[in-house]
Amino acid sequence: AQQHLHLNVLTAESAQGHKIWTFLQEAHQELDQAQADFVSTVSHELRTPLTSIKGFIDTLLRSGSQLSEAQHRRFLRIIKNQADRLTRLVEDILTVSKIQSGRLKNLPQRLELAEIVDRVVENLSQKFTGNPMLTELPADLPRIWADQDRLEQILTNLIDNALKYSEAGSPVQISAHVDPEDPNVLWIAVRDRGIGIPEGHLDQIFNRFSRIDSPLTREREGTGLGLYITKSLVESLGGSISVESQYGVGSVFTISLPAAHPGEDRLDA
Ligand code: ADP
Repeated sequence: AQQHLHLNVLTAESAQGHKIWTFLQEAHQELDQAQADFVSTVSHELRTPLTSIKGFIDTLLRSGSQLSEAQHRRFLRIIKNQADRLTRLVEDILTVSKIQSGRLKNLPQRLELAEIVDRVVENLSQKFTGNPMLTELPADLPRIWADQDRLEQILTNLIDNALKYSEAGSPVQISAHVDPEDPNVLWIAVRDRGIGIPEGHLDQIFNRFSRIDSPLTREREGTGLGLYITKSLVESLGGSISVESQYGVGSVFTISLPAAHPGEDRLDA
């Protein structure tokens, strides 16, 4: 009976070992697959602007002297736009790669949200001249505990999207408040009255290279990496992100972030 029991334990152990081994192998294959998918998507995304750049340069070389000055300039402008798109893509891809390999370092400090929002709004108002940006930040909002560059990038991505996926003239609102049940948590919301997101797509928009397949999205420039980067950055700072949206009505992106030691904040005040 003893031996039988021993055998049973051994089989159970090795069955468990086998399960773990299979699990690890499957996880590895999945990882390989995700990596392969990423490389193939990146290659495709890079090839599209490159093909366009090459095509317009070929045209300029072939028929340069027959083109009018205006056509010449138009083609050069397209080439420049596509090169800018490539630069943005490469920058986003580098950020994603840093996030994935854990090389993106956070240096959290106590930050005044209003100052950062002002800076981001000021920068974006040069690009989106037709949209009012309204800020609603309580004067006594505690400081945030976050890395300044990361927080700026998070807010820039969310406000840039809010403006980009709205019509000219449509307002964007940035607001913040302390969690009523937890003084250590701050909530920041970016609200737009733009094109909105169909309900079935709400889960996917935080994935890499995920863009909603609609004419309204396609006519706007984007890499599909912004929200993936934003979510990763927010989570690396100890926060969370969520979205509520109604197609054709507008969207609200809400993030939570830790407040900087509230006790000390009060002493500072
Ligand atoms: P992109 O570079 O395409 O803007 P993001 O990762 O920032 O990539 O966003 C992913 C997709 O989510 C966008 O392509 C767009 O379809 C949708 N989206 C993001 N923000 C908004 C918004 N404020 N309003 C409507 N759609 C949005």
